[in-house]
Amino acid sequence: MRRNSRNVRPRVLVVIALALTFCIGSSLLFRFSARSPFQIFHASAPRISQKKVLHAAEPPKHADGNHKHLSNPVTRILVIAPHPDDETIGTGAVLYAAAHQGEELHVVVLTNGDAQIHAVQKTFRHTPFPPRDFIQLGWIRQQETWTAMRILGVPARDVTFLGFPDGGLASMWETSWGNHPVRGKYTHVTAVPYADSPTTDTPFTGSALNAALVEILRTFQPTQVYCIEPHDVHPDHWASSNFVRLAIAESGLHPQVQYYLVHYPGYPSQMRLGDYVDLPLNPPRPLAGTASWHRQPVADNVRRVLRRALTAYPSEDSVDLTFRRSFARKNTLFAQLPTPRLKYASAFNLAASGALPGSVAVLPHSGSSQHHIPSAAVLQTVGVLQLPQGLCIDWQTQGPLRATVAFRVDLWIVGPNHSPHRLTLLVNGKMNTFQWIDTGAPLPSTVRPSVTLYAAHDRGGVLLKEIAPPAGSTLFVQVESRDARQGMLDRMPLEEISLPKTSFPGAQQKP
Ligand SMILES: [Zn+2]
Repeated sequence: MRRNSRNVRPRVLVVIALALTFCIGSSLLFRFSARSPFQIFHASAPRISQKKVLHAAEPPKHADGNHKHLSNPVTRILVIAPHPDDETIGTGAVLYAAAHQGEELHVVVLTNGDAQIHAVQKTFRHTPFPPRDFIQLGWIRQQETWTAMRILGVPARDVTFLGFPDGGLASMWETSWGNHPVRGKYTHVTAVPYADSPTTDTPFTGSALNAALVEILRTFQPTQVYCIEPHDVHPDHWASSNFVRLAIAESGLHPQVQYYLVHYPGYPSQMRLGDYVDLPLNPPRPLAGTASWHRQPVADNVRRVLRRALTAYPSEDSVDLTFRRSFARKNTLFAQLPTPRLKYASAFNLAASGALPGSVAVLPHSGSSQHHIPSAAVLQTVGVLQLPQGLCIDWQTQGPLRATVAFRVDLWIVGPNHSPHRLTLLVNGKMNTFQWIDTGAPLPSTVRPSVTLYAAHDRGGVLLKEIAPPAGSTLFVQVESRDARQGMLDRMPLEEISLPKTSFPGAQQKP
């Protein structure tokens, strides 16, 4: 971190300037909030499940009064970013083009970026830092985002800040889905503290963020959604991607989803100090084959505007100005992910095999969805397949299974007619015991299935007996390897698997 050694007088001027910015921004903020297409309706209880959260603006109408998107589909772009600045880093050129072509667009920022201690040090210059300083930083970062959006041509009314905790999204996803909200690392609050957010007072739980995103999707009805690429290594980032993908499946909508990457080792490539405008933006080599990557050229004039927008976040300059500006490149870069279909693996008969450990060598991968994990530390591949006996999640490891490395398995089932069900379990390294993790999410049929574990030299898996998701469901599976001391070692990004519309031949069978 760079320490600034300015003298006292400029410091005073900076503080006054920031105070003025904040005051002006705050007054603008309420004006913008009054014009926001998403308005909050406060019910008696502040819980998100008990209030109607968001109302979209009326969809555009033709002269005959019909909604455009019903009779003549228009492009409706929804950008979802984990922190202030990710929207510009990932989609600045898209936002510029959409705003200048008059397309419907909306930007949703999940957190206010209020856990940045370096930014609080730079801004307030006193110690210790009380929690209110971090909330004030959250306001400042909103205003920085509005400035960047204005540069790109996006009006402030088209930006919504949900105010969830910076640094807390992964915990909300992994452990605090239901009760027990996450506590802001420095703000020390457990509910959204920002008065202009449509989610004010909403607890920091996964289910609350999920509900807000589903509501936004259903009201805005996007035709295109931009969100973080799931291999992004920043915990808030991959968690934000998980939240968005789950919410899309739950919403019943089918927008085109484009994924942008921000944090990945060595990305963006060829980074150097100075001017980046002549360099292309390419995917990191380990991810080149994991998705279909699309590049669109960015015109010189747009790149110049994008560079200006990328410098509109001064609170973060001391740590990442160079990094941010390095995204103003010759092209945009977005991934489209495949959605594999789950197949029925009829060739494998667990009952006939007797002892499971001896049979894993013949577990058929041909009928499974299989995910290869780039740059794996422990996990190499994860496969998911439906057997007559239940749903099987199977993984191969780099080298033999180790007693010290455990596996966390997360399965979501999003049915066509119900809210998501979730099963989460932690399996020990020897693959002979497991424990359920209570995340507070609804369970399938309110009970947990019986589980069979199996293991071989470098392979293990779980069979969730009698789990046969209904036809038309979507599954989301995530597997992590965990060391007792180091925590997470590696993670298979959330895999989305669709089920055919017709039932499996063995789906109704019992073991
Ligand atoms: Zn970020």
